Amino acid sequence: MPPVDRTLASIDLDAVEANVRLLRSHLGAGTELCAVVKADGYGHGAVAVGRAAVAAGADRLAVVTAAEATAIRAGGITAPLIVLGPLQARDEIDAVLDADAQIVVWHEDAVAAIQRTGRPAALHLKHDSGMGRLGDPDADRLLRLADRIAGAPGLELVGAMTHLACADDPDDPTTDAQLERFVELGRRLRDAHPGITLHAANSAATLTRPDAHLDMVRVGIAVYGLDPFHRDPDDQGLRPALTWTARLAAVKPCPVGGAVGYGRRFVADRPTTIGTVGIGYADGVRRASSRVDPVADVLVGGRRVPLAGTVSMDSCGTDLGADAADRAGDPVVLIGRQGDERITAEELAARTDTINYEIVCGISRRVPRTYHRSGRPVAG
Ligand SMILES: *Cc1c(COP(=O)(O)O)cnc(C)c1O
Repeated sequence: MPPVDRTLASIDLDAVEANVRLLRSHLGAGTELCAVVKADGYGHGAVAVGRAAVAAGADRLAVVTAAEATAIRAGGITAPLIVLGPLQARDEIDAVLDADAQIVVWHEDAVAAIQRTGRPAALHLKHDSGMGRLGDPDADRLLRLADRIAGAPGLELVGAMTHLACADDPDDPTTDAQLERFVELGRRLRDAHPGITLHAANSAATLTRPDAHLDMVRVGIAVYGLDPFHRDPDDQGLRPALTWTARLAAVKPCPVGGAVGYGRRFVADRPTTIGTVGIGYADGVRRASSRVDPVADVLVGGRRVPLAGTVSMDSCGTDLGADAADRAGDPVVLIGRQGDERITAEELAARTDTINYEIVCGISRRVPRTYHRSGRPVAG
């Protein structure tokens, strides 16, 4: 018998490639596509997804940390790479330069720290046009920083970026205001530094705001086939890449008054059958879901069944119903399709008061990732 996996996240690399091509089809010929594979590819595996994205036409990849940049190169990917996050330690800067990745800066202290390495580096400026976190909101200061970079031996100014706070709501006027500020800064930067790449759009803006595309878009969530607007990915023609499965570890009858899990939060009001799934919050099943009504569903035997009782670290209960014919070992789908039914990351997020991003990033390292293409397993 083949080994039975307790739980698996299987990633469809055809879907990743189709999503990248779809996103590319929204872009004009002069706009580059940068696939964001931070947080280990939003939980999907940065190297496998990064490779598929590049194969499907991504011009560049982006990550957030120095360690993520190192991992991309260790995976053999040679595509241009940007590290979006702040680098604070000398070791981090060295690791990013070793990875031949570009760096994002917005303060002269960071530029000075990079200069102290004595190594050549390519830098993007970050404008805080309204997100209010990283970046400098002051255009004049950024223009002076640009001049300083351009005048420093070994340093090269290659781009300027901003990040949109409200692009997932196409009606929010914040995006107009942010773009106006950034485009004005970009115009002034370009006067002095003509070759630089201007970039602002995330997935949501890529799909809804051609005026935000500029020289490059940075697409994350949509690459994975998840919807930046928190609705059904089908609406945008996106294909969710990830399927998360587990197995029934035990099945047993539950009489009226029988309780399931810590705190006895589920008590049967009719005779039923409890199927215990062998994964819990240590795998990324959200415990909150056992407090929300209706609780999360999973797919068993081609039908939807609700979770029953509190999710624990290593297991959770499902209410299979009185006449259930399910057996220990049967597959359970937490995200994905089974028969005619489907559970999306967006549905799970809505029920647990979070977003699809957090659902997939939250699938823990205890869940092995596997990859397939044209229905066949491939290496990650
Ligand atoms: C994560 C990230 C993105 C990608 O955002 P999505 O909404 O996932 O498309 C783009 N830019 C920056 C700076 C990011 O940190």
